[in-house]
Amino acid sequence: MNKLVNEMGNERKLHDVLRRASLFLEKHNREPKVAELLLQHFLGVSRSEFFMKMRDPVPEAVMIPFQQAIERHAETGVPVEHITGYAPFYGRDFHVNAYTLIPRAETEELIQHIMRTVPNKRVVIADIGTGTGIIAVTLALACPEASVYASDISEEALAVARQNASYFGASVGFLQGDYLKPMIERGIQADIVVSNPPYIAPEEGMALADTVKNFDPDLALFADEQGLGAYNRIIDKLPHVLKQNGTVFFEIGHDQGAAVKSMLQRTFPESDVSIIQDMNGKDRIVGGKLSKF
Ligand code: GLN
Repeated sequence: MNKLVNEMGNERKLHDVLRRASLFLEKHNREPKVAELLLQHFLGVSRSEFFMKMRDPVPEAVMIPFQQAIERHAETGVPVEHITGYAPFYGRDFHVNAYTLIPRAETEELIQHIMRTVPNKRVVIADIGTGTGIIAVTLALACPEASVYASDISEEALAVARQNASYFGASVGFLQGDYLKPMIERGIQADIVVSNPPYIAPEEGMALADTVKNFDPDLALFADEQGLGAYNRIIDKLPHVLKQNGTVFFEIGHDQGAAVKSMLQRTFPESDVSIIQDMNGKDRIVGGKLSKF
């Protein structure tokens, strides 16, 4: 691979460095905007400060790690979030690492939908497969009167989630275990069960972008039964955790709406379940109030 340093020449003004790095990424079929995010990160400045510094020289101590990061991203597709160690979600920067799924914009819509649906009062919320903890932490901060629990099978992911909760001062009860199992063991009864579980069929793994398939953990991406296995296992145990007339919210793959809805209706025949689209018009959430079980 070409070295960015060779193409950079003597350019040191921020806007020239940025232009060269963006072109370099484009030439390697990577998103040019990544240059901006990385340069801002290594400079350690806010977005507005960054734009005010366009004519200033980039210090040598920043040039070196910046160029290395750009080259690494161009060559391997390593996500920016794994280089910087954080990812934005709902206005906060969450710590991420190789054991956690990088937060997705679609999951912010899941949060918005829950907030619209749930009156802010003393509810019990259970987030299943919490990963970085984005859902549990964001809801705990938005609904301070709620009791929020979150499970994950991965101890490593839970360590990240705990770190995020304590950094943002969110009170969340983290439990290690498979889906709803740790909630059942502790007799937790929830008004709201939310989950963005793994939902990609392993056979579809090859079609994923290298930035995803080589860096997001398999445990967070893939589920058996054509990607529906996690929903099946959660729905199967829901009657033990969800209160009567409690509400469930699942994030889903764009082609899984009908399947997940009918799985819910099979177990909870008298329920009011709907499929909700995301900002791109794709099916993204299945949820509703579940009754009489
Ligand atoms: N709940 C976390 C998120 O929404 C993790 C999801 C996952 O790992 N599948 O990002």
